[in-house]
Amino acid sequence: MLNNQGRPTGAGESAPAYNRKTFTGNRALQTREALIFEIGRPEVSGIDMDEPEAFTPRLGAHARKTPLDLPGLSEPETMRHYVRLSQKNYAIDAGLYPLGSCTMKHNPRLNEKLARLPGFADVHPLQPTSTVQGALELIEVLSGWLMELTGAHAVAMSPKAGAHGELCGMMAIKAALAARGEGSTRKVVLVPDSAHGTNPATAALIGFEVRAIPAREDGTVSAQAVREACGPDVAAIMLTNPNTCGLFEPEVVEIAAAIHEAGGYFYCDGANFNAIVGKVRPVDLGVDAMHINLHKTFSTPHGGGGPGAGPVVLSEALAPFAPAPFLRRVGADLETLTLVEETGDGAAFGRLTAFHGQMGMFVRALSYMMSHGSDGLRQASEDAVLNANYVRVGLGDVMSAPFGDRPCMHEALFDDRWLKGTGVTTLDFAKAMIDEGYHPMTMYFPLVVSGAMLIEPTESESRASVDLFIMTLRDLTFSVRRGELERFSGAPYYAPRRRLDETRAARQPILRWTPPAPIAEDEAAE
Ligand SMILES: *Cc1c(COP(=O)(O)O)cnc(C)c1O
Repeated sequence: MLNNQGRPTGAGESAPAYNRKTFTGNRALQTREALIFEIGRPEVSGIDMDEPEAFTPRLGAHARKTPLDLPGLSEPETMRHYVRLSQKNYAIDAGLYPLGSCTMKHNPRLNEKLARLPGFADVHPLQPTSTVQGALELIEVLSGWLMELTGAHAVAMSPKAGAHGELCGMMAIKAALAARGEGSTRKVVLVPDSAHGTNPATAALIGFEVRAIPAREDGTVSAQAVREACGPDVAAIMLTNPNTCGLFEPEVVEIAAAIHEAGGYFYCDGANFNAIVGKVRPVDLGVDAMHINLHKTFSTPHGGGGPGAGPVVLSEALAPFAPAPFLRRVGADLETLTLVEETGDGAAFGRLTAFHGQMGMFVRALSYMMSHGSDGLRQASEDAVLNANYVRVGLGDVMSAPFGDRPCMHEALFDDRWLKGTGVTTLDFAKAMIDEGYHPMTMYFPLVVSGAMLIEPTESESRASVDLFIMTLRDLTFSVRRGELERFSGAPYYAPRRRLDETRAARQPILRWTPPAPIAEDEAAE
């Protein structure tokens, strides 16, 4: 480890001799925090309110008969409660967050400042469009940039996440097939084994049958395999590019040609677009529909930090099938078209969402694009790839990497071959990273690689930050080789709740808080 002065602090420092339980249960700055229902008292309030004047409720039989029991706290108690809770969360603002495929990169503060401008933050979706022309124009400009960067003919802005974008794109494909009269014959969607789980889930959700394409030894999809799987029953392929092994699909153009020749469409999972922005336009590769995770590629907060946004770009072939709502310029003004009938072409599959989408994310994404410029966006992609390759090489001699012999894109993939026979698993290794103050990388995904560890450092980490991360992981690998199993088997030791029983948490989730039973008198007397 390095201390603040950049000097190593001896990885094997002995544990403190004095290790007594504290009276409060706190451990220095690591405070315990009860639920708000446990610490709040219904009779307390942070503000003074006048007694309401006498009135007769008009709710009749629906009027509440029991007290509301809302937890009441004073203002300082409220502040402490939420500040303490916020400190329990690992966040991109607290440290490097190497979760592969998730692009946990810095959210520039300029974006936040702009998103809080009242003209964007305080608009209501039901305001007359004449009063929100500026906000609508922002959506129009952002749409234009997304089409420019992807080579698309249309973009549906309303999907609210990547998975929602997949649904939107696949529904557009379904509508296009129906318009061709092939809605009932083309039922199969090809999905490579390495795909994100949302891909087959989306296809199945709207009634397609999923046909898996096995991954090749080298982690990429073979155009030949796609050609062989194609037939008159195939509606589309869903392919991630760069793929979830962190590799650019070298045969993507041939794959697009194969699916088009067979009469199907090419859906691209664009969650990893941050590796190729400004380098290649996906629609030029033959993509018909692709979602863009604004919350990954274009830096808007996610993972507990904010809602996502998953606009879907569409090729010329699918553009007529974009869903409502969308914007149209009528004279000088922008209008919101919410009903398919209003759009006049009637080919779309309907209305996807109530309103235009996540306005706050649109502002942040456009702010990110405009502050970077086209050269800056290209450099961000280059830096993402550079940082990932720096990790790949920095750990390549101590960890096994299934495809580590060649450059990766924005993420470096390792497997558990190097852990064989050591008694340490991918999970143990990840838990030991928590003790070192890092959020673990993506584990056991993609499924095609045994014990996968997928590391995406992202472009916003400095060289010093990635160096410390690499040195920490190297130190952990040396510990594995020295047989220091305890460091892993019981990790994390320093996290407040230690190692959770994840299986039990998944199988028997307790989703509702119930007040603890009152302490019986004889017990209380003890
Ligand atoms: C993140 C991700 C998704 C899903 O995006 P959400 O916004 O979380 O719904 C889909 N595919 C891949 C490859 C991803 O990384």
